[in-house]
Amino acid sequence: MSLKLYNYLTRKVEEFKPINPPNVGLYTCGPTVYNFVHIGNWRTFVFEDILRRALVFNDYKVKHVMNITDIDDKIINKAKEEKIPINELTKEYTDAFFADLGRLNILPADVYPQATEHIDQMLKMVGSLIDKGLAYVKDGSVYFSISKFKDYGKLSGTNVKGVKAGARVDVDEYDKDNPQDFVLWKASDSDAKSRHEAFDSPWGIGRPGWHIECSAMSTQYLGETFDIHTGGVDLLFPHHENEIAQSEASTGKKFVNVWMEGEHLLVNGEKMAKRLGNIYTLSDISKKGFDPLALRYLFLTAHYRSKLNFTWESLEAAQRALSNLKNEVSTWEEPKVGCAEFEDNFKKAVSDDLNMPKAVAIFWEMVKSDYPASAKHKSALVMDEVLGLDLSDVKKAQLPEGARELIDKREEFRKRGDFAGSDKIRDQLKGMGVEVEDTAAGPKWKVK
Ligand code: AMP
Ligand code: ZN
Repeated sequence: MSLKLYNYLTRKVEEFKPINPPNVGLYTCGPTVYNFVHIGNWRTFVFEDILRRALVFNDYKVKHVMNITDIDDKIINKAKEEKIPINELTKEYTDAFFADLGRLNILPADVYPQATEHIDQMLKMVGSLIDKGLAYVKDGSVYFSISKFKDYGKLSGTNVKGVKAGARVDVDEYDKDNPQDFVLWKASDSDAKSRHEAFDSPWGIGRPGWHIECSAMSTQYLGETFDIHTGGVDLLFPHHENEIAQSEASTGKKFVNVWMEGEHLLVNGEKMAKRLGNIYTLSDISKKGFDPLALRYLFLTAHYRSKLNFTWESLEAAQRALSNLKNEVSTWEEPKVGCAEFEDNFKKAVSDDLNMPKAVAIFWEMVKSDYPASAKHKSALVMDEVLGLDLSDVKKAQLPEGARELIDKREEFRKRGDFAGSDKIRDQLKGMGVEVEDTAAGPKWKVK
């Protein structure tokens, strides 16, 4: 079975072919740690976790690198407002990020490089771009000259024809309709250096632009050319486009084979974003009594390339589905040989550009099927290697003493057509806290 992934570079679903099988190099753009990560960000991080689990499910060995952006304008401004050093601010939110990561069952990356610890690698790359004539110095800052890189725009489809030579921006994010030379190194001053917000460089004191950190750090940990790079779709331009320009101009080699971008989480039809003030954090969700894994379940119900509109009702439905599932699993016998057909279909859906809505539907078909509980249990645990819903932690529900005998007796009554008798036993079981439901696959019970 082959794994197929949608590649933004070719705008096609392609068979995935790693450079050095079974190894796969995966770089996922990480958080900017000046605030709590919101559930829109978490949608992208969960998509990346599913991707990684799907690769492992297909027997690949993944080296996963996720950067932590611990220096940028937003961080500097917030630290100033709070009158604390930037590393105090970034440590607080990096710790919070890792705690939430665990609550969503996201597997930790192999490396979490922080921008401030990789300044030398960034300086080297910026230096090589100047040497090659693709970058220039202006008032102590260094800019990438997009008109000199012939492939500029190849990922996002941005048209650079007619771009005014020398028009440049110092901010890291800019308008898709207005591509400009972007900053690689921003001039700063000695005050900033004393606050550890700036560093020495051959061009004077300054700090890196946002894009250069991902080029320098991904290359350091995964090589000059690697397999997969991901982020949210808002990073397509300019961030990922600029990463390609910097890296390919510097090394002369193709930077990344497969680019995958996750679609946004919306609220009332608008992107969830800090600047729009329409965000919820994982704590907001927990405070309302939701299990963080209900959010993960909700994300699984939409394809990663489709927008998903967040509503509390949809989270409630996800919570109900997850609770029902865990109740069901808690009644199953010990896992034995699984249901091969369902497992195969599940894998096919996962391997078809991570079609998780289909995979979840197959999962439920399996749960509701007539297979013995021990087989379902086995398959559920196999599928949970990708779903990540913690099904292996579900405790086996214990029936109160005598309940098992009553359930069996009631079944005999039902088979005989003695419904008055079976209803009586149902009430008796209810009094013991056991609810019985009759299904095509036999009686199902739940301990309340
Ligand atoms: P940031 O911390 O803003 O750099 O964002 C971290 C990750 O979250 C990036 O991959 C973004 O593309 C992604 N992201 C930001 N907002 C959303 C959203 N509303 N839905 C999905 N992903 C998002
Ligand atoms: Zn990045």
